[in-house]
Amino acid sequence: MVKAVRIHKPGGPDALVYEDIEVGQPGPGQVLIRHTAIGVNYIDVYQRTGAYVLPALPGVIGLEGAGVVEALGPDVSGFKVGDRIAYAGGGPGAYAEKRIFNAAQMVKLPKEIPDKIGAAIMLQGMTARYLLKQTFKVKKGDWILVHAAAGGMGLLLCQWARHLGCHVIGTTSSEEKAALAKKNGCEYPIIYTKEDFVARVKEITGGKGVAVVYDGVGKDTFLKSLECLALRGHMVLYGAASGPPDPISPGMLASKSMSLTRPTLFHHIATRPDLLASSRDVFKVVMSGVVKIQKPVEYKLKDAAQAHIALESRKTTGSIVLIP
Ligand code: NDP
Repeated sequence: MVKAVRIHKPGGPDALVYEDIEVGQPGPGQVLIRHTAIGVNYIDVYQRTGAYVLPALPGVIGLEGAGVVEALGPDVSGFKVGDRIAYAGGGPGAYAEKRIFNAAQMVKLPKEIPDKIGAAIMLQGMTARYLLKQTFKVKKGDWILVHAAAGGMGLLLCQWARHLGCHVIGTTSSEEKAALAKKNGCEYPIIYTKEDFVARVKEITGGKGVAVVYDGVGKDTFLKSLECLALRGHMVLYGAASGPPDPISPGMLASKSMSLTRPTLFHHIATRPDLLASSRDVFKVVMSGVVKIQKPVEYKLKDAAQAHIALESRKTTGSIVLIP
């Protein structure tokens, strides 16, 4: 038996129950992982509330972790007992001391990357990479808008985009968050609880608007984000921290020949070569210091509910990890 955080039914943070579960033995192609750190992401909130449905209940939530390989099932190649690994995706089940996992969906952690950083950057780092390099390929001189610029995703997007030569405008809800975003590559932070961000974006860009909006906030920002776009701008709706936006008519995009996409990480790392290329790129920017990772906020695994409360009440900046 190992300790894990499960939900028996969807709900608020008190739906997270810390209890014993059976782990079992790894089957073909699988390994037994002992987690040393577990990433907390907004998607875990969607799993807890039922916005994303778990395959079965009771079920362990969570999609990201780092740890050590403790046992190998048959037909596993490329990994051995004792390897330090990390992963993002591969199905829920990360909020546990140990789990069975498909070897093909994890990668070895470079020695330069501590476990806690590994657990903090796999999901958000690979997401920042595909958003900036695949969903909309940003280039030097592009103006971009990043919402929740001091959040886990936000700090990574701002730094990486700035390194790629973009002019980064970001929104945050407070002065402190705006200052942090600024330190992390966001040239023009806007405090959207105090200022009309559409008007400010227009002002900053000389009336043109931005080439792309990276919007993980959703309902509260979506329509205004469209207003911030330049002609032929790209609206990248990649999350819904404030809830899913109301439906729009496709014809609405014609006013500026805008494009709209709702991408998800797991379609960008679905093959082993994609996962390896993506994680390699993330490790590279972190190890070279191009993207600096602030120390993740830590909670004990048994206190996962506290981590969710902090994340949902917008108290956190950067990444959060759970320590088993
Ligand atoms: P964050 O650390 O960014 O936390 C969410 C932030 O959203 C808050 O800090 C807050 O910033 C802002 N926010 C605005 N309105 C609300 C609200 N009503 N309730 C809560 N927060 C609000 O979280 P993550 O970095 O984990 O995730 C950011 C987004 O990225 C999420 O929507 C997530 O689902 C998405 N995501 C999508 C992926 C994909 O592939 N599609 C993969 C990874 C993440 P402020 O106070 O400054 O407004």
